[in-house]
Amino acid sequence: MVGRLTISIEIELGWGVHDRSTTDHLSSDGSAEREYLDRLLQKAEKTDIPISFDIVGHLLLEECDGTHEGPYEDGWFKSDPGSDASTRPLMYAPDMARKVLDAETDHELCTHTFSHILCGEVSEEVVAAELEHVQDLHSDLHAPVSSFIPPRHSRPANRTLRRHGIDVARYAREKRSLTPLHRLKELVVGPLPSWQPEVNDGVLETYCTTYTSLTAGTLPAGQRPPLVGYRAIPTEARIRTHKYYLERATKRAINLNETVHLWCHLYDFSNKYQWRIIEWFLEFLNDIPAKELTIKTMEDLSEEYHSRE
Ligand SMILES: [Zn+2]
Ligand SMILES: [Zn+2]
Repeated sequence: MVGRLTISIEIELGWGVHDRSTTDHLSSDGSAEREYLDRLLQKAEKTDIPISFDIVGHLLLEECDGTHEGPYEDGWFKSDPGSDASTRPLMYAPDMARKVLDAETDHELCTHTFSHILCGEVSEEVVAAELEHVQDLHSDLHAPVSSFIPPRHSRPANRTLRRHGIDVARYAREKRSLTPLHRLKELVVGPLPSWQPEVNDGVLETYCTTYTSLTAGTLPAGQRPPLVGYRAIPTEARIRTHKYYLERATKRAINLNETVHLWCHLYDFSNKYQWRIIEWFLEFLNDIPAKELTIKTMEDLSEEYHSRE
């Protein structure tokens, strides 16, 4: 029995909500997110767990003047501050990219578009422009991109991705038949639904849930408190339940020879409650013999699948 497990973490900071007005999930200066990224990279090094970090391309910039060329609709960059990394650390974060790439562990720095564009709602031309921009930025870092995660699960056409060097994408799926009560149960205790990767139009599609699975929906998401209903349950019980959820998903992948893909945003685990789960999970994975479970980045998965073709 050999299971495969992939972890992807979205680094988007202020760009994740630049078209919305809520920022209560983020720290005001990006310090909590930076602290927890450091903790994660240290823990991943100790446990030798490689992770796919998908970053919004704009964060790779040290500074900008607030305008970016391309076939965008008017006002798309209206919340771009036209500033720099030291003044607006939620809109520029080249330091984070460097940390991921400089880590001893073989992490992958992949892409979440240049400006958190909703790929299914814009023309192919816009998606192409974003990918071109991202490929230029990543090649400056000597880290070309081959893995893609669309913002808010809004899918582009695979052919557009393939034309721009992408050969693996993470897409979200849903079990539609669930009643609201069953959906709540799936979210809190699992089991995590399982969908196996497949190649479509030359792109390997690896699937995840629409909601975050690596972190617990019952605990604070970053700086934002959980829904009132969850707060009545003791914190320890909520932590224990999510550990069980992750353990169950991992063991099923091993027992059924399956691939499981877990994900969250960087901000999600940037608090002491979620961190306890992440820290425990990486150690739990490290204790599983490699002959039972291999941890693969999206790029590793893609190499394996495309080499079978
Ligand atoms: Zn800009
Ligand atoms: Zn996002």
